[in-house]
Amino acid sequence: MDPTLDIAVVGAGIGGLAAAGLLASQGHRVRVFEQSPTPGPRGAGLLLQPTGQFVLGRLGLGETLRSLAAPVHRLEGRNHRGRTIMNLAYADLAGRNEPGGSRRAPHGYGVHRGALFTMLLERAERAGAAIVPDTRIDAIERDATDNHYWRLLASAGATGAGDRSERLDGRFDLAIVADGSRSVLRERLCPTCRAKPYPWGALWFVAEDRTGAFEGALRQVYRSTTSMVGWLPTGLAAADGERTVSVFWSAPARTLEVIRAGDIDAWRRGVLDLAPELTPLVAQIDSPESLIPATYMDVDATLSPRPGIVLLGDAAHAMSPQLGQGANLALLDAWALARSLDASLRVAPVPVAMAAIHKTLGRSRRGQVRFYQRASRWMTPWFQSGLTPLSWPRDFLMGPLCRAPLLRRQMLLSLAGVKTGLLRSMVVPDGAAQPPPTRAP
Ligand SMILES: Cc1cc2nc3c(=O)[nH]c(=O)nc-3n(C[C@H](O)[C@H](O)[C@H](O)COP(=O)(O)OP(=O)(O)OC[C@H]3O[C@@H](n4cnc5c(N)ncnc54)[C@H](O)[C@@H]3O)c2cc1C
Repeated sequence: MDPTLDIAVVGAGIGGLAAAGLLASQGHRVRVFEQSPTPGPRGAGLLLQPTGQFVLGRLGLGETLRSLAAPVHRLEGRNHRGRTIMNLAYADLAGRNEPGGSRRAPHGYGVHRGALFTMLLERAERAGAAIVPDTRIDAIERDATDNHYWRLLASAGATGAGDRSERLDGRFDLAIVADGSRSVLRERLCPTCRAKPYPWGALWFVAEDRTGAFEGALRQVYRSTTSMVGWLPTGLAAADGERTVSVFWSAPARTLEVIRAGDIDAWRRGVLDLAPELTPLVAQIDSPESLIPATYMDVDATLSPRPGIVLLGDAAHAMSPQLGQGANLALLDAWALARSLDASLRVAPVPVAMAAIHKTLGRSRRGQVRFYQRASRWMTPWFQSGLTPLSWPRDFLMGPLCRAPLLRRQMLLSLAGVKTGLLRSMVVPDGAAQPPPTRAP
């Protein structure tokens, strides 16, 4: 069987580009439509867990990742009085896997978004995917002559709403909606699905780590639930670049622009009051424009609303970055889709394969996605909210709970991205150590 499909991917973000790379490697004709005239990442760095590293390894990007990203071995959190709230070392998961899993110590990788974007984009293009910029997809509709196919309606650019939508040339066996947390297409395909903005967000900036003092760990400092500053080593933006560290400052979403427009020196003093060691980093902020505002959504949508349409990444399940899992889940969605498409097409004609994916993809991803959605929703107010009394039990209990072996292990499994239920988890994969696939995945 093994037919070649025409596949449209909406959104050249992390999930869309990973899916494009995997599916183009399987021999499909893939076109990626991106609303931005100059596709690129927005925001600072992010933490890739062993799960996300596994998918990058399967894309053959393990070595590139290792050369650009910064290993993260621990998560450390303290309150403003210096009391330890969290201290989790990935190394404690080493040798604790089920048979078949890694015996090596896993770790996270802090990666600059620019570096991650470039490696995924180049990989997709190398595999033959075509990137179509400046094309905002407004709707997906069935082909009028053969309803197994989908057609796309598009307008130019990210602000294309006012322009006239036009039907694009070509029809597609599969449309992958990877247009992020504020997906317009999700709203059309699933108007009743949960899509709620979080009231809190963050200001981010990327600084240079000139001495290497910020390597090795994701660190956070909290005062009550209302102030938090964190910093993550994020490696090199490009092979010839400087070592970077991404710093974030938590604040109510409605105040992010107010802070940027206000007295940056006063804000800087607030950051240093919580974390004086950040002096060499915050000194690098020369204008409010270098502070990047980020807000989050809580989204819960089905992964395959129709046969032949797949929602992937934030479009289906955006969450607060409290547990640092969104990009990892998007990569795993892409991997699950590529595998399931490959398996279905080997035994069934295209319409049957699409029906099978429609039935099984959401089910195969449900446990893991649901766990992280709920855990992020539950955890976020303890660290980012106006509910200050929550910080009392947090500051008093979390340090000791992190030391209790059973809970510590569950926390570490959650951090590593492998939880699939409250007491269930998958094997911690061997991360970016995976060799590139020798044949289509
Ligand atoms: C502050 C912050 C910190 C985070 N930290 C982490 C972390 O440490 N670890 C982690 O795993 N995750 C983290 N995340 C989450 C992670 O960034 C997202 O989960 C991930 O980017 C989702 O990828 P995606 O491909 O689904 O969407 P995106 O990366 O958002 O890509 C969507 C793309 O679609 C394009 N697009 C949108 N609409 C259209 C349209 N109609 N037509 C065409 N193109 C369109 C957009 O321009 C964009 O390029 C963080 C998120 C935030 C906000």
